[in-house]
Amino acid sequence: MQIRDKTFIVTGAGSGIGQQLSLLLIQKGARVIGLDLREASLAQTKTLAGGDDARFRGVALDVSNLERVQSFAAEAPSIFGGVDGLINNAGIIQPFQPVNELSLEAIHRVMNVNFYGVVYLTKALLPHLLERPEAHIANVSSMGGFLPVPGQSVYGASKAAVKLFTEGLYAELLHTRVRVTIVMPGAVATNIVENSGIEAPPASGNSSRFKALPADKAAAIIVRAIEKNAFRVLVGSDASFMDRLYRLAPRYAVHFITRQMQSLLKK
Ligand code: NAD
Repeated sequence: MQIRDKTFIVTGAGSGIGQQLSLLLIQKGARVIGLDLREASLAQTKTLAGGDDARFRGVALDVSNLERVQSFAAEAPSIFGGVDGLINNAGIIQPFQPVNELSLEAIHRVMNVNFYGVVYLTKALLPHLLERPEAHIANVSSMGGFLPVPGQSVYGASKAAVKLFTEGLYAELLHTRVRVTIVMPGAVATNIVENSGIEAPPASGNSSRFKALPADKAAAIIVRAIEKNAFRVLVGSDASFMDRLYRLAPRYAVHFITRQMQSLLKK
């Protein structure tokens, strides 16, 4: 898809990957409607984007609130005169706890934001996207959506649900003008722990041989994938490496990642 002169909705636009996606899309000549929980973070993105109302509009909204999503979707096309792209990027991680200790409340919260948030926005905007000359949906899953990470089992399940939902959409929309991309990032340097409202793990997986990718680099890879109408994009060398390892030897890959992440579950 050509980015210039298109209008994108980017969820989670107030921080990390979503903020960098918004800035890059604007730099490439698009308009962005940025969604996030907090007005203040959206205002920051707008300032970074040059403060231009004609390029960036922030809307404070919880993607897991179906009514709010539906009323936003009804208004969205009138903001800049049509919507051509939807990037479902907003997401949270779960508390670093094994399933046995994780509350049902935490489980519902992660599924509601990471999976139902994607479903609600997609359902609400798809009829409009199908009417556009060309349109794109990119959904941000995770390396954790194909590879289990101990202490993030429900996060992984939510991202696996996003992966299959998105691949199903890709297949269903093949004969339309809506292209679909599934995005599988590895570790990206953002404030996701803090923004998810959870405690940082006792020690991070620093033993990992891979460095977290800067968010602007991740955004550049994702935007390139949208431009190329890619089916799937792995973001970062850790995601590419684990994707290959998991397909070759799934059980070995699970043991490998468990050794890397062991410290996350130690008290
Ligand atoms: P981030 O916390 O920097 O940004 C996420 C944004 O989403 C935040 O601004 C947050 O306020 C917003 N958000 C959270 N819940 C929301 C809700 N209910 N409604 C609206 N907005 C909401 O995190 P990030 O690392 O940039 O994450 C972006 C996406 O990338 C997420 O889906 C995450 O799961 C995925 N991802 C991140 C990594 C990583 O290492 N950072 C790795 C793989 C996948």
